[in-house]
Amino acid sequence: MNNLKNLRGTVDLLPDQLTKWQNVEKILLEQLARASIKEIRTPILEMTELFIRGIGEGTDVVSKEMYTFLDRGERSCTLRPEGTASVARAFIQNGMSSNPLQKLWYMGPMFRYERPQAGRQRQFHQLGVEFIGYDSVRSDVEIVALAWDVLSKLGIKELNLEINTLGDVSDRLNFQKSFLKWLEINKNSLDIDSQNRITKNPLRILDSKDIQTKKALKNAPRLFNFLSEKSHKRYLDFKQQLEVLKIPYVENFNLVRGLDYYTHTAFEITSGALGSQATVCGGGRYDNLIKQMGGPNTPAIGFAIGLERLILLAGNELEVPRNTDIYIINKGYIAEPLAMDLSRKLKKYDLLVELDLSGSSFSKQFKKANKLKSKSIIVIGDDEATKREFIIRLFDQSGNANKEEVISLENDFELEKWINNNLLAK
Ligand code: ATP
Ligand code: MG
Repeated sequence: MNNLKNLRGTVDLLPDQLTKWQNVEKILLEQLARASIKEIRTPILEMTELFIRGIGEGTDVVSKEMYTFLDRGERSCTLRPEGTASVARAFIQNGMSSNPLQKLWYMGPMFRYERPQAGRQRQFHQLGVEFIGYDSVRSDVEIVALAWDVLSKLGIKELNLEINTLGDVSDRLNFQKSFLKWLEINKNSLDIDSQNRITKNPLRILDSKDIQTKKALKNAPRLFNFLSEKSHKRYLDFKQQLEVLKIPYVENFNLVRGLDYYTHTAFEITSGALGSQATVCGGGRYDNLIKQMGGPNTPAIGFAIGLERLILLAGNELEVPRNTDIYIINKGYIAEPLAMDLSRKLKKYDLLVELDLSGSSFSKQFKKANKLKSKSIIVIGDDEATKREFIIRLFDQSGNANKEEVISLENDFELEKWINNNLLAK
């Protein structure tokens, strides 16, 4: 049989790597809880139709990147490529609109059939936040500030915020008319992908990475010039409030999201510390999505952060695993069950406890504790067990024993005192 391997673009995350993931997730979750944002979990597998309607046929995600298949009941299913469509569906389906203001977050794997490279996988993870029912400029600012602050909290350097406004639907229709005329005339200066988008999703052409197309677009009409006075004022307000919060931004008029339901604010956060896949966070307002999916007219804004890219960026200090606090060295017929009992007792403390289950010699177990740089050890052999006691020994930073006590197995109070004084004391 051939060796079995994981699929291209998927990765195994091993215990050593997961220390950093867990530390990053812990900080993220803490920040979200402090901002009173509630978690939502939706299925990873959804009807294909959800993403066609919720992301849009003209997008790369739907046209090229989805993992779509027929299940045994011949239903077309798709592994979710992003989270917003599912959250919107869940909001509508579960009658969540009875509470019209909801701040929600989700985190988990997403699937896109793309060419794998550093920071780009086929199964990757996103943390997303959606503010549903919120339409004020302040909610846009709060969303951007939240994304900015969580990234900063993780110590990520060289952050850049790019912003743009897409106006409302009628602003965009006005722009599109004039843009389509320009595209007809200038079609030949565009790359093939962009030419194909003229009929499917013309706005997305603005987002092209092709150098020639980018150059040609410099002379194209600007969406900004088609904003109504109201949309324009909204954008100015948004910028002004970012300035009050001292969040630096750069305007990028080519930052677009191609679909009708995206409105007003669009933003991206990139980091100069990442290579070519520089975008860590993308977000924007989608006031028309929930209505288009059959729900009540509900404004909303959100963002998604790519966790793989976040892990690449987060500081090395988050890679350091927590040290063992107590390593329990035990050997002997009478000692071993008592050691196990002791290790269960210790679980009520916020301590990292490891019970040696190897059955190997005391000296080997000592070596293991040493290798783990355990802050302390408990030793219990049959001699101690017969006397119904155990030895507990504390080590200093350089691994020298600096304190030792013999405690009775019955004296939980003494044990607790020792732990409080030596391991839990800050
Ligand atoms: P990109 O331009 O990098 O393809 P995107 O516009 O497709 O990004 P979004 O759909 O806005 O990305 O997703 C939000 C974030 O999720 C991205 O900024 C990125 O950090 C992350 N992301 C998207 N696709 C992948 C992927 N295939 N692998 C890893 N992370 C990804
Ligand atoms: Mg993409």
